[in-house]
Amino acid sequence: MMARGFDHALIRAQFPILEPGVHGRHLHYLDNGATAQMPKAVLDAIVRHETRHRANVKRSVHFLAEAATEAYDDARESMKAYVNAASEEEIVFTSGCTGAINLVAYSFGSLLEAGDEVVISALEHHSNIVPWHMLAKRAGVVVKAIPVTPEGRLDLDALPKVIGPRCRLVAVTHVSNVTGAETDVAAIVAAAKAVGARVLLDGAQRAPHGPIDVKALGVDFYAFSSHKMFGPNGVGVLWGKSELLARMPPFLGGGEMIARVTLEETTFAEPPRRFEAGTPPIAQAVGMAAAARWISGIDQEAAHAHLQSLTGRMLEGLEGMGGGRVRVVGPLGLQNRYPVVSFIVEGGHPHDICQLLDEEGVALRGGHHCAQPLMNAFGVTGTTRASLALYNDADDVDALITGLGRALKKLHL
Ligand code: PLP
Repeated sequence: MMARGFDHALIRAQFPILEPGVHGRHLHYLDNGATAQMPKAVLDAIVRHETRHRANVKRSVHFLAEAATEAYDDARESMKAYVNAASEEEIVFTSGCTGAINLVAYSFGSLLEAGDEVVISALEHHSNIVPWHMLAKRAGVVVKAIPVTPEGRLDLDALPKVIGPRCRLVAVTHVSNVTGAETDVAAIVAAAKAVGARVLLDGAQRAPHGPIDVKALGVDFYAFSSHKMFGPNGVGVLWGKSELLARMPPFLGGGEMIARVTLEETTFAEPPRRFEAGTPPIAQAVGMAAAARWISGIDQEAAHAHLQSLTGRMLEGLEGMGGGRVRVVGPLGLQNRYPVVSFIVEGGHPHDICQLLDEEGVALRGGHHCAQPLMNAFGVTGTTRASLALYNDADDVDALITGLGRALKKLHL
C-alpha cells in the first residue's frame, strides 16, 4: 500500500524485515546510510515483474519481451519524474552510484586534456575520489580538493583558491555519508559556472529523502543508488543533461548500445542506450522506480519533521555522554543536515562499540565509511555512525543512547 500522509506506525508496518517475528526481536536498524530496507510495495513490484513480465528488453518481439520492455521504459519514466529531468533520455540506468560516477569519470573524463582540473572535496566517499584519481593517472588531469570545516561541511571560503580557470568539473557530495552535512549547492554551482566548469552531485545519501529537482539545483550530473532509497541493489541512476550526454562517448561496449556494427567498426546509439551496454538490471530498475514512487507518495514535510526530530533527539543524547568521552563529528544543529550522525568515543574503537550495540539489537556502522581523507582531516581512524530512515522512531534512538551507556560501562569508560 502506498503511504499517504505520514504515520510512523503505518510506515514501519510496510517493512516485512522489521516485523518482530522475523528475527525474534525488535530490530533497531540504524545502518540506513549503508542500505535501507525495502517496503512491501517495492518487494511486490519486483515479484510481480519476475513472475509476470520476466524477459530481456529491447530485443525480442514476443509478448513477454514487450511487457518487460514496457516495464523498463516505465521505470525510466518514474526516475525522470523523481529527479525532475527534462526527458527520459537523460536517465541512464547504471549498477549504482559508483557505476554512475565511474561512467562520468571515464566518458566525460575522456573529453578532458592533460592539465585540466577536476575539483572534489575532502568530504567525499571513495566512490567520488578513486575514479578521478584513475582519470588523473590515465589522462594527466589534475585533481584538487575543497577542504572541510571542523564542523564537517565544505569550506566554501576556499572555493576561489581551489576552483580556477582550468577547472572543468566540480564533483561533490550532495549530503555527506559521515557528517550528514548538506552541501550548499548554489555556492558550488556559482563558483563552477563562473569558470565554465560542470557540476556533478553524488546524491547517494540525499536520494532516500524525497524527490530531487536537478533543474532547480542547476547541476549537470546527478548520481545515486537504489538500495539506499528503499529499492533493490544492483541498480542506480546517472542523470545527465542531454546536451552533455550527447557529446560523451560510451563507457562500456556490448549489446544494445550500438547503431551499427561491422567487423571493422561500431557506431553508437543515442543516449541513454549508448551507456547501457548488455542486459540491464531490469527487475531492479522496476524495483527502484517503485521505491521512488513509494517515497514520492509520502508527505515530505511530515517525513522531514519526523527525521529532524529524531536527529535532534540523537544529537542531544550523544553529545557529552560518558563525561564528555562521546563527541559528535558533524554539525550539531539541524540546519542543512540529514539524519546521518557520526560520533567518536574517546578510548573506544568503533568496531567494539558496534559489536556491543549489536548485542543490544542496535545495528550501526563503524569504521572509515569509505571516506579515509575525511577521517584524516578529523585526525581519527574511524567513527561510529547511526543513520536514520522513515521507519525509525524514538525507541530506536533511545535504544542507541541507553545501549551506548551500557557499552561505555562494559569498556570501563
Ligand atoms: N556516495 C556516497 C555519499 C555514499 O554514501 C555511497 C555509499 O555508501 C556511495 C557513494 C556509493 O554507493 P554504492 O556503493 O551504492 O555505489
